[in-house]
Amino acid sequence: MISKNMQDSINEQIKNEIYSAYLYLSMCAYFESNNLPGFANWMRVQYNEELSHALRLFDHINERGGRVNLLAIAQPPSDWKTYLEVFTQVLEHEQHVTSLIHKLYETALAEKDYAAQVMLQWFIDEQVEEEKNATEILEHLKLIDARGTAVLMLDHRLEKRGKE
Ligand code: MG
Repeated sequence: MISKNMQDSINEQIKNEIYSAYLYLSMCAYFESNNLPGFANWMRVQYNEELSHALRLFDHINERGGRVNLLAIAQPPSDWKTYLEVFTQVLEHEQHVTSLIHKLYETALAEKDYAAQVMLQWFIDEQVEEEKNATEILEHLKLIDARGTAVLMLDHRLEKRGKE
């Protein structure tokens, strides 16, 4: 059985993961409207990943005899000035999520909840990957003129995500 405190903390993180999905879907819409299908594809894959993160947490609470409570999701931003600004926000957002996952892990330690600790190790690894991916794309965008042809090359690469 999961403790009330651990259950509430994981419910909070389900909301955070769904907000992440919502944010990336909004970024997907932005890139669609800017005629960059590759960037839009990358965001759509990211959206689906975030939903799967939420479901992992959802399943964990249920498997442990807890009760999932879905909380209100905030409205994400919908416009950005440059592509660089979008990926700056992606990286900042993922760094923020990493801090939330670490806080959740600290709660699991304090609660002596070993099952939650094991489950959260996957998220700790995942956040390393998320920050790495966001950093790489951000650094590539910094190398190029954000309105130039190199954007189209990067767009072509991002189009392949989830299709290999
Ligand atoms: Mg996530």
